[in-house]
Amino acid sequence: MNQYAQNVLSDIQARYNNEPEFVQSVTEVVGSISKLLDATPKYEKNKILERIVIPERTITFQVPWIDDKGEFQINTGYRIQFNSAIGPYKGGLRFHPSVNLSILKFLGFEQIFKNSLTTLPMGGGKGGADFNPKGKSDREVMAFCQSFMRELYRHIGASTDVPAGDIGVGAREIGFLFGQYKKIVNSYDSVLTGKGLNWGGSLVRPEATGYGCVYFAFEMLATRNQDLENKRIMVSGSGNVAQFAIVKATHLGGKVISCSDSNGCIIDEDGIDAEKQAFIRELKNVKRGRIREYAERFPRAKYYEGKRPWQITSCDVALPCATQNELDLDDAKALVANGCICVCEGANMPTTLEATQYIQSNKLLFSPGKASNAGGVATSGLEMSQNAMRLSWDAGEVDNRLHNIMINIHNAARNAAAEFGEPDNYVMGANIAGFRKVADAMIDLGI
Ligand code: NDP
Repeated sequence: MNQYAQNVLSDIQARYNNEPEFVQSVTEVVGSISKLLDATPKYEKNKILERIVIPERTITFQVPWIDDKGEFQINTGYRIQFNSAIGPYKGGLRFHPSVNLSILKFLGFEQIFKNSLTTLPMGGGKGGADFNPKGKSDREVMAFCQSFMRELYRHIGASTDVPAGDIGVGAREIGFLFGQYKKIVNSYDSVLTGKGLNWGGSLVRPEATGYGCVYFAFEMLATRNQDLENKRIMVSGSGNVAQFAIVKATHLGGKVISCSDSNGCIIDEDGIDAEKQAFIRELKNVKRGRIREYAERFPRAKYYEGKRPWQITSCDVALPCATQNELDLDDAKALVANGCICVCEGANMPTTLEATQYIQSNKLLFSPGKASNAGGVATSGLEMSQNAMRLSWDAGEVDNRLHNIMINIHNAARNAAAEFGEPDNYVMGANIAGFRKVADAMIDLGI
């Protein structure tokens, strides 16, 4: 590895050893851009690595709210404004009990390069809270969101920082957050994306991350003269990303045989067709139920409590769409042994570093989430453009733009990887293409 990269990485690993997810993401990025750093001494001269790994601003705040029993509840809220060299901070909000500084720093760091890859002018940020929306009434979720926004509003703005959804933050939460923001500032600003269609949202934004992931997998497969027709596809998760990855993979001729939630997974050898896709959307977005209920409704499917899909049966294509580190080395070994040819990340960093290395060394197609799940934030960028122009594009227009962006990201990653001698290495290519643009902007803007 390049000596400068090695020095910075050792320092980060020692200084932040209590932030394992953050260290993992820095290790992946810095480790994979070694050849670029060898070829471009100005990055070391300008101390770009030292600067890019520290957020420009980290905000932590208390979020007090009152539950349905009239009891006080306190959560911790965060916003990491990581890098604004190429545009206003942009990145989702995550509400999940596991949320902490390490997880949000990893997500914010990834977001810098992802947003750069979209070709749109967006910096990197991320935020959220250790609040668990599961089992809460709509009123409790609203009370929490309003309290969260009562602090966040002073740090965000259409040209400053534009949050969106992530795990635990969907259309309902964005609505409550936007309503509170509007009331406080008395201005209808484009300050959040993922908004409802009647109040500034974009068509195809809900579908965008899942669709984009499948468009990316399609491009990767095409480099080996393959497509999705009749492929067995395993998806994990059953939330926003998973739901629409299943829809698009099925549209393109694939048979999706799995999905999951944090309690377990189902395998459906008949394929998750349109009727079953609608059932999952209703179950997860409206009833807020568990994926086990899928196997109760469709008894030919089998439910596996506490299991992830990867080791249960074989697939051609794996789309991990749930959460970080949900595909480990043993899972990767099973995928390779069972003939999988492509792993395309829909979630952020779902594959551990060891699993990624194993998959790559066995010559499978592998795409990091920062490239293959960038369709969500890209379409958020399109939502911001429509808001700025005060008009709405139809679904076909947005989908077309999304599709082209995914093809461009694929080509940018592949070309950057080829420039440094490893055309199939999408991890290296995505990181180099994303990093180079931000690093050059940082140099142009001065210290
Ligand atoms: P959702 O909250 O809609 O869905 C998350 C899914 O993952 C649910 O099925 C959830 O199960 C499951 N899950 C969450 N935590 C765990 C866990 N610890 N173990 C197992 N399963 C878990 O989130 P999204 O679909 O929006 O996000 C999924 C991933 O995609 C995340 O990594 C997110 O950062 C990433 N992403 C999302 C984008 C978007 O536009 N939404 C954009 C780019 C990336 P359960 O219901 O039991 O919690």
